[in-house]
Amino acid sequence: MITKIKKVYYCEYCKKHSLRPLRKHEKYCTGNPNRECQLCNNCCDINKIVAELIKENLIINESDSYGVEQLTCDINEIKNRTGDCPNCTLAVIRQLQKLYTGRFYLKYFEYVEDYKKRRSIIDVMKSF
Ligand SMILES: [Zn+2]
Ligand SMILES: [Zn+2]
Ligand SMILES: [Zn+2]
Repeated sequence: MITKIKKVYYCEYCKKHSLRPLRKHEKYCTGNPNRECQLCNNCCDINKIVAELIKENLIINESDSYGVEQLTCDINEIKNRTGDCPNCTLAVIRQLQKLYTGRFYLKYFEYVEDYKKRRSIIDVMKSF
């Protein structure tokens, strides 16, 4: 039997791990508040958007029918601030989840759709 010990690299911001360094992934990881965004050319300041949402009382308490406290936010309030960038929207949600551990819940149902839309706009722009 052969056993080998291998180095495993973990992303600092999410659960992703790999046998190869994740430097590139970390740079764009939606869990990284200082990420770079290839979809909107870094027009969004994730930390600033999160601070704004809190300051403007847009994080709302939405206790469920069992009385379990749950915080959420109108997805459109986030999308307005990220200019509809799907990855930055996701990044804002992730920061809120980190901030309100286990209490913040927001499902971004149209992510895949929004991502495809954004990608096709970029592809069209590149073709000119
Ligand atoms: Zn990651
Ligand atoms: Zn942006
Ligand atoms: Zn973006």
